Amino acid sequence: MENRTATRGWNFKENKKLVSASGLTVRSVLNKLMSCVDPADTRPVIPLGHGDPSSFPCFRTTPIAEDAISDALHSATFNGYPSTVGILPARRAVAEYLSQDLPFNLSPDDIYLTIGCNQAIEVLLSALACPNSNILLPTPGFPYYEAWALFTHIEIRHFNLLPEKEWEVDLNAVESLADENTVAMVIINPGNPCGNIYTDQHLEKVAETARKLGILVIADEVYAHLAFGSKPFVPMGIFGSIAPVITLGSISKRWIVPGCRLGWLVTNDPNGILKEHGVIDSINGYLKISSDPPTFIQGAIPQILQKTKDDFFSKIVNMLREGADICYDRIKDVPCITCPSKPEGSMFVMVKLHLNLLKDIEDDLDFCLKLAKEESLIILPGVAVGLKNWLRITFACEPSYLEDGFQRLNSFYQRHAKKQ
Ligand SMILES: *Cc1c(COP(=O)(O)O)cnc(C)c1O
Repeated sequence: MENRTATRGWNFKENKKLVSASGLTVRSVLNKLMSCVDPADTRPVIPLGHGDPSSFPCFRTTPIAEDAISDALHSATFNGYPSTVGILPARRAVAEYLSQDLPFNLSPDDIYLTIGCNQAIEVLLSALACPNSNILLPTPGFPYYEAWALFTHIEIRHFNLLPEKEWEVDLNAVESLADENTVAMVIINPGNPCGNIYTDQHLEKVAETARKLGILVIADEVYAHLAFGSKPFVPMGIFGSIAPVITLGSISKRWIVPGCRLGWLVTNDPNGILKEHGVIDSINGYLKISSDPPTFIQGAIPQILQKTKDDFFSKIVNMLREGADICYDRIKDVPCITCPSKPEGSMFVMVKLHLNLLKDIEDDLDFCLKLAKEESLIILPGVAVGLKNWLRITFACEPSYLEDGFQRLNSFYQRHAKKQ
């Protein structure tokens, strides 16, 4: 063995903050569950933990998107570096696409292209991370926000979503949590993990609360238009004149192409408050020191947004509705889980786990680990999205997989049920 010690000792070590922040992500919990699956089980793994149905043939994206990307690539005009905020034709196309649902027109200057919606979260939280700042995040929520807040030293304060009120924001809690260092609150609509859709009345109250508190609203609308219940999807941006709204989105979910890594950060701020208070400069500053979505994907964006046909969108929404219906029905057959409200959007439903009906299960994580091991069925434990002893189930899945998944869930329950 050679001498492995540097003359003065090695100076580098673990970045503890990063190791703990990354342990918070959905991805790390799902990896852990997958590693529990018994390799001797010959049945296929049923993945009801993810938010990416792209591997199911019935959720394949539209040929319009595939052709747009291929055309952009073969044109050989998108092989260079893009500009830091995104190429103009793509930003213009996003502005036009989003303006269809707004009472005012967005300008391309309101649009910043990012590497998926995830990088939009990274950019925005990094831009907002001034000393002592705090942010209000929903419980349950999307842990990527917690991870970036932790990593950028923004203090996290949690408000609840109310299951008995179709997962509306507890606005009283928001008011009591906020102080002069609160910079923003986050809402996710359509909801991940709850599958809820907010009414325009509720969104207006969110905006009025934000104005009262002097904070901006971060509206994560990555599931925009994936609404299949009684309520339509309403973009938060329509209330941008009450309080500044920054909308985050991407093509990942509506077009089922999370691999394209193309998202956006959009300012809905007709009163120019964000510019006046330096937020725009901060966002631009962060984008100058980070990387950009591939230029040829940006080059495909105008065609993707302008040419995709309504029949593709309605096919996807119908698939999700069918999945949500199957899920909601089958949940009633499994005594140890209950669902407070039927999902109306996104790809998920939250169900409450009743441990008192189970004899040898410690908590939601234990439930999901044993389920993966015994049934090769992957379901996300609620603790991964901030709500212990709940479960998040994905219904964006081939219907036969869902049926099979619920059968496995039922046999798991039978084996672990307390004898009456
Ligand atoms: C999937 C998801 C994202 C990330 O979207 P990408 O475009 O794939 O980066 C962001 N927010 C929420 C709530 C999500 O579910």
